[in-house]
Formats: sequence, C-alpha cells, structure tokens
Amino acid sequence: MTCRMANKYNGWCKHLPSHADYEEGYCLFHAPKKPEIEHDVQNFNKRIFDHIREAKNAGARCDLSGTIFPGPINFSKIELPAMVFSHAEFTDEVDFGGALFSEESDTIFFHTKFKNKANFLGTHFYGNVFFKNTTFGKIADFWSAKFFKEADFENAKFRDVVDFLGTEFINGVFFTNSSFKNTANFKSTIFKKKVSFDHASFEGAVKFDIPNFNDEVNFRNIFAPDAQIRFLEADLSRVSFIGTDLLAIKFEQCKWPSKRSTLYKRLWVFSRQPIFPRFFRSSLADVLYDEIKTEKHLKEMTYHDWFVESSNEYGRIEDLYRQLKQQSKERHNETEASKWHYREKEMYRKKLLRRRIPLCSVLWWYWAISGYGERPLRAFLAIFFWIGITTAIMNLDWFGLQLLKYVSVSNYYESIVGYSGSFNPQKTWFAILNTIQHALFIKEPLYKAINPIGQTILSFFTRIIIPIQAALFAFALRNKLRR
Ligand SMILES: [Zn+2]
Repeated sequence: MTCRMANKYNGWCKHLPSHADYEEGYCLFHAPKKPEIEHDVQNFNKRIFDHIREAKNAGARCDLSGTIFPGPINFSKIELPAMVFSHAEFTDEVDFGGALFSEESDTIFFHTKFKNKANFLGTHFYGNVFFKNTTFGKIADFWSAKFFKEADFENAKFRDVVDFLGTEFINGVFFTNSSFKNTANFKSTIFKKKVSFDHASFEGAVKFDIPNFNDEVNFRNIFAPDAQIRFLEADLSRVSFIGTDLLAIKFEQCKWPSKRSTLYKRLWVFSRQPIFPRFFRSSLADVLYDEIKTEKHLKEMTYHDWFVESSNEYGRIEDLYRQLKQQSKERHNETEASKWHYREKEMYRKKLLRRRIPLCSVLWWYWAISGYGERPLRAFLAIFFWIGITTAIMNLDWFGLQLLKYVSVSNYYESIVGYSGSFNPQKTWFAILNTIQHALFIKEPLYKAINPIGQTILSFFTRIIIPIQAALFAFALRNKLRR
C-alpha cells in the first residue's frame, strides 16, 4: 500500500513500504508520532541520511516534505544538498550546527515545525533559504550562521528565544509579519543588504546591539505594545520607522542621519562666506531617515500627487518626531527633546502648502526669526535684521527723518532723509542709532519722521516688531540654557 501522504507531497515517498505499525498506511517518514508506538529513532535517522545520500549522488534535491522526525537528529557539519523540509515536523531537538546547505537550489523550510530546540550554529546556507510560516517552538540559535543568498522568515513564529548573534546576511533578509514571543537577539548581526521587519510583532526583549546595517532597514508598522526594543550604537542612517510606535523603542548612542537645514539651503551662497561658519555649521541637524526618504520621494512626484500625498507623508513623520520628543522628555533629556521638537514643528510647517510659502504664515515667521523658539542665535541676528529694515524704510524720501527741533546738538544733521550717491557713515550711524533709540522707548530720540504715516511705521517696527523679536530671543535663549 502506498503512503497516504504521497499525493500531498509530490509522491516522493510512494516507492517506500508501509510502516508495519500503522493500519492507515503511512511510510516510515510520514508516520505520525504516537505515544503507544515505540519509534526506533536510530533506524529512522539512518534512513533519513540514506535518503539524503541518494539525492546527493543523483545530483537532485532532497525532498523530505511532510516528514515527522520522531526523535532528535543531528545534521551537524554535514554537507547537504538542496533540501525541502516543507511541512516537516521536528518533534525533538535538531542540530544543523556547522552544516553546509548547497547552493544548487533553494532550501525550503516552509510551514516547518520545530517543536524543540533548533540549532543552526555556524550553519552556512549557500543558496536561498525559506523559513516562511515556520514555527520555532523552543530556542532557535543562529549564532554566526551565514546566509549567502536571500533568507526569508516571512510569517515565521519564534515562540521562544531566538539568537542571531553575529549572524551574517550577505543578501536580503525578510522578517515580514513574523512574530517574536520571547527575547530576540540581533547583537552584532551583519546585514549586508536590505532587511525588513515590516508588520513584525515583538513581545519580549529585542536587542539590536551594535548591529551592522549596510542597506535600507524596514522597521515599519511594528507591533510591540509590551516589548522592550533597544537599538544600541546602531547606525540609523537608513532605518525607516513609519507606522511604528517609537515610544516602545529605546535608542542609545545611535547615529542618526543628518541634514542641512532649510535656512542653510536658502542662504546657500551667503552661508559659504567664512564670516558665519559656526552658525551655519550648527545647522546640520539629526533627522529620521524617513524624512530624507519622503522628501526625495515627494520631489519625484507630479504636482497633483504631491498635493494629495505630502500632507499625509509629513504627518506620519511628525508623529514619529513627537514620540521621540516625548521619550526624551520622559528621560529628562532636554537637549534631545529640543532637537525633536524642532523637527516636529518642521514637519507640521511643511505639511501644508500655505505654511510653506515664505512670509505668508505665522508659523513661517516663527521658524524664520526664531527657529520655533529653539535657535537663540538666529533670533538674535533677526533683531539686527529688523533694525536694518526699519532704518532703510525710514530713510525713504516719503516719510524720512527730520531732526527734532528741541535737540540742539550742532553735529547732528537737520535731516537724514534720502539715499544719495555717496555713502555717509555718520548719517547712516545716526539713522541706525535713531531706530535703536525708538526701540528702547527713549523719550527724546535724535529724529522723528516727517509725516504721520512715517511716524506710524516707525512706531510699528520699533514698538512692536523689534520688542517681539527681542522677546523671542530671550525665549529661545531660555530654552537653550534650561537644558
Ligand atoms: Zn509518505
């Protein structure tokens, strides 16, 4: 009688005799493990190795799909052909330590069940490996294993501890939708190409200590309400977190990607002058990779798509920054909090086209003249900007400045109105001094405006705008010094 499972698994076992202890008709490999039947594990394993040898000699891949391994089995340090373990069940420990999987074809652990410890210590996978939908019931150990091609752990379930200490993924690796019920250790794991944890769920401690990321890391949409995820000394230059609650993640001594501030770009030519090097060098800000990626992505869009998408895209990154800020505040790290606060506000500004147009929104001004109350130097320089603007306006012929009658100092000019061909430093200084005097509410300034309109404009700038700017400077300075 042929094995009843033969059809299900492509008939690889159909030439095998039926197992004597089973009336239902199973071959030795597919016979379910039953407590009342004494399994001769040694003989079973010997038959497995015979089967592997046959496949190897024939240069074919070894199909063991659906096999139920009744006891522990040891494949350590064996050179294996391409293997198919789909729907197989390892009821006891299995050791693939130091085993070498051929590159001829894919190794498939599809829907495989490891009911006990699975050891892949130092295993080399030369071909693609699929652990799709595989369940690891006990500890899964991948210490120093090496995956030369793609490794796919999509939907895999790690019910116990899983250890990727020093594991090397030379090609892409996917943990999409996989679930980690206990500790997951990615300490010093080497990811040479892309890695994805999209929609993965974590429940225990997850350690990314000094991971070696070399390409994009997708850490989006992670579900980890009670997990303790930690990134230690990780290079986050290309790690994407959209849709993940960053409050669940602890970042310690990580390297964030950096970006030139918008102001720097606006003043690019100007900022290359050596007079302001420190001011502009400090404009190199830590950001999330998602911000850089999104901006690049949005730039490539048509105007219509941009209009539809940008608000959402920036909104999602704004959420991430808010979470980072909250986290920093909870740890009383005010410097970090300030850094993320600035980014959060930037995303909020960029979210709406209206807010992005220069000069046209309050938020734009708040950004430009004080860096959202976080840039004292910028706010300080802006005071001089307003003094300059006011002086320049008051120098126009229409409402220019005239010497107040009761000020009788012979050196002063009767009037300093108008731009002439030649530059008069003394006149210019008096004009600036006059603006400062008005801003300081000095009762008898050097000059007053010729007409009421001029006087109103002068008052508006010196009694409202410049004091507000000074207050913003004080506010920004306090924010800086509080930290
Ligand atoms: Zn069978």
